[in-house]
Amino acid sequence: MVLRMSRLMLKTLRDAPADAETTSHKLLVRAGYVRRSSAGMWTWLPLGKRVLDNVARIVREEMEAIGGQEVLLPALLPREHYETTGRADEYGDLLFRLTDRKGTDYVLGPTHEEIFTQLVKDQVTSYKDLPLTLFQIQTKYRDEARPRSGVLRGREFQMKDAYSFDTDEEGLAASYRAHRQAYIRIFERLGFDFRVVSAVSGAMGGSASEEFLAPAAAGEDTFADCPGCDYAANTEAVTYTARAAADTGADAAEHGPVEEMDTPGTATVAQLAARYGVPASATLKNLLVKVDGEITAVGVPGDREVDLGKLADHLAPAAVDIVTAEDFAERPDLVRGYIGPQGLGIRYLADPRVAPGTAWITGANKEGRHAAGVVCGRDFTVDRYLDVVTVEAGDPCPRCGTGLRLDRAIEIGHIFQLGRKYADAFQLDVLGRDGKPVRVTMGSYGIGVSRAVAALAEQTADAKGLRWPREVAPADVHVVAAGKAVPTALAEDAAARLHAAGLRVLLDDRPGLSPGVKLTDADLIGVPTLLTAGRRAAEGLLELTDRATGDRADVTLDEAVTRLT
Ligand code: ATP
Ligand code: MG
Ligand code: MG
Ligand code: MG
Repeated sequence: MVLRMSRLMLKTLRDAPADAETTSHKLLVRAGYVRRSSAGMWTWLPLGKRVLDNVARIVREEMEAIGGQEVLLPALLPREHYETTGRADEYGDLLFRLTDRKGTDYVLGPTHEEIFTQLVKDQVTSYKDLPLTLFQIQTKYRDEARPRSGVLRGREFQMKDAYSFDTDEEGLAASYRAHRQAYIRIFERLGFDFRVVSAVSGAMGGSASEEFLAPAAAGEDTFADCPGCDYAANTEAVTYTARAAADTGADAAEHGPVEEMDTPGTATVAQLAARYGVPASATLKNLLVKVDGEITAVGVPGDREVDLGKLADHLAPAAVDIVTAEDFAERPDLVRGYIGPQGLGIRYLADPRVAPGTAWITGANKEGRHAAGVVCGRDFTVDRYLDVVTVEAGDPCPRCGTGLRLDRAIEIGHIFQLGRKYADAFQLDVLGRDGKPVRVTMGSYGIGVSRAVAALAEQTADAKGLRWPREVAPADVHVVAAGKAVPTALAEDAAARLHAAGLRVLLDDRPGLSPGVKLTDADLIGVPTLLTAGRRAAEGLLELTDRATGDRADVTLDEAVTRLT
């Protein structure tokens, strides 16, 4: 069917919404692809829905090519499953929570590891049924603190989430590799400029994890890239690596003697601030301390902030102790307050080098810089410092020493080797080769399908508007009737011929609009090829324009059909 602009629900806008900061936000709204419904919630209009569906189709094809089976799970999920794994607390305010009429607690799924684990427990009994990869393309909900940048960060968004199930490490590694390759094909087909970088797994848990990043100024992630070797990592991961490396060294010398703390293991918040060079006026997140013996989460999960200066006034002269690993065992809810912007607290507790009975305290200011931590022995003496670790451009590459480059990027995909975290939580076993139960090991693999639309717009747009790669564009060719009777007849002809030849055609047949208005809209909408019936229509000539390069040529209809098919 030819998509006729005379009937299309489309209203292009001359001006971007006042609150729009990023290119994709401005252009997707101006070109009539999406419309804001409420904070972080977006309506996909006819042109936008086509692009979204194209992205989903490419993702689906490549997931099926590696043997993934598509399913569809509910978005509304009993909260208890997320409590079993501790993620209800880890996600904290990010979770949309609700209660049904009987008082049962629910969440709107932010990602579905728990539910897929249970599905497989219910459906699969033998090693013979594995390996298995399931995926869905589904609506996800996260109550993001600052939903901004349009569909780049929605509170409701489309994700492709996949889960692999294997019986052993080699199987998991193979499933992970297959997904990694599929992701590379997906992002190539979508037309992305992208990098695969090391990542930290954050609230997902598990070990190995990589992100697919699309370099763009609007990105909220910073990645370090080595010009000397193939090292590339999210700076979150670099700081973690650097921190772990520092942790193994005898770095106390660098930090001065332990006695600097007034009483070993006891300090006021102001002293801690001074100790770590965090300005007392800095706003801290996620500082866990014991105040007069009571565990207090100073700083709040999510993106809320606490003023350390005010806090010190408030607490002084109370003694502030360090929280121990045993404290965490008793109060697992505290873990929630423990996730810094870099997820470090959690990881260190899980780190086998931090023996039970050791303690950890951390704080980070709102940019995630000035993170400071200290690991203490059982008598509360400081035995290791985990110091401020930030990455600056020019810092040595951890692999080859060359100065690192730092770039901004948008996270478009993320793959994880989860291991047995979820299988353990739900006792997901299958019968093994020897007839004994074997615990399943899992991977999880996400792509931001709706985010990908905006990320592509960020990377491809120019001053005039969007410029879609052909596979995701809402149409293959945009035919414009730029003039009265003769051009209109030729445009109609062209649209019919191209449609018959199998192309997806958008036809600007809107009456009473000047050619200038139509062509400006065409540039804004960004279909890869423009075919204009205008001034030379009487000679049977159309103008063929490549939206990406700007190349133009006058062609007959036959030539146009040949060139475009
Ligand atoms: P971010 O760091 O941007 O908050 P994330 O690391 O929390 O993303 P994951 O949990 O890894 O996200 O989810 C998998 C994918 O889902 C991400 O790689 C991203 O492409 C997409 N995604 C995550 N949050 C959002 C959101 N609020 N809006 C749109 N897409 C999102
Ligand atoms: Mg997030
Ligand atoms: Mg992330
Ligand atoms: Mg991620």
